[in-house]
Amino acid sequence: MDPAGKDRTTEHKARVKRLRKIIIAAVLVMLILPTVLSIVALARIGSLDKQITQLTDLIVEMNANMNLSVHESQEPVTRAAEGPTPLQERKLSASGNGTVSSDDPYEGLKKVYLTFDDGPSQYTDDILDILEDYDVKATFFVNGHEGFEAQYLRIALEGHSLGMHSYSHVYSSVYSDLDGFAEDLYQIQSLIRDITGQECKLYRFPGGSSNAVHHIPMAECIEYLDAKGIRYFDWNVSGGDALSEPHSASQIVNDVCAQVKAIDNDTVVILLHDAAGKRSTVEALPVIIEKLQAMDNVVLLPITDETEEIQHIRP
Ligand SMILES: [Zn+2]
Repeated sequence: MDPAGKDRTTEHKARVKRLRKIIIAAVLVMLILPTVLSIVALARIGSLDKQITQLTDLIVEMNANMNLSVHESQEPVTRAAEGPTPLQERKLSASGNGTVSSDDPYEGLKKVYLTFDDGPSQYTDDILDILEDYDVKATFFVNGHEGFEAQYLRIALEGHSLGMHSYSHVYSSVYSDLDGFAEDLYQIQSLIRDITGQECKLYRFPGGSSNAVHHIPMAECIEYLDAKGIRYFDWNVSGGDALSEPHSASQIVNDVCAQVKAIDNDTVVILLHDAAGKRSTVEALPVIIEKLQAMDNVVLLPITDETEEIQHIRP
């Protein structure tokens, strides 16, 4: 072959090679681009989902608090005023004793229960450290959060009460139908049992029993809990720390202390949150405890079988 012909062949080969590279690159881009875009879209959907849940939480919390202030003149329903709970009835009939014991070591005192919803979180250890410093026991109404096994266990081991606050805290699935409610309850109860060995019998409804997001009648959920010997607790004092614009630590302190002082009830259940973004709650906690301990008619306790329920609704 003459040199010119050889050159043409080499050039042709090079062009074919370039073309092949371009085609391969184009195919790769066509394959990779949709995958990358899908991943980005999924991540975006995930974060939007989270924001929707947080906003719904906020609305529910506000509704519950509004309910509370609208019905301020009425005492929240307490079981003691209504007679024994099904659980107490079972205990009474089991013991064959028809009278409720009256030896209350805290008689005449305001029994104040600090409760933390939505944990465990990045703040659980801080909250537990503060409670330990002040030798105070509290109650944690927890959700199912992976990677926080040590915190569930620490809550239990340090003598605080563990309560269930649903596994998912997703209103649409917890309150979709009774099967969904039962499945979610089973999940959170099993999680607590697997980690701590405790058979948890305390519950706080996501959004409270007076929430406006349920699809099934709350009466059905309450009946279901009753049948399982599980008691639910709402609150009659709120720290206001669930708002999207979180209250400052001093606002939380002032709100809580003013409500505790004003409330005409021996049982005071304070709603606080153990959740991402609730740093001001952690900052407020030592001051809340100091101010409450300085009140001479107040005792800080964890919720137990003996605690009188505070409930927004009781069908
Ligand atoms: Zn919650």
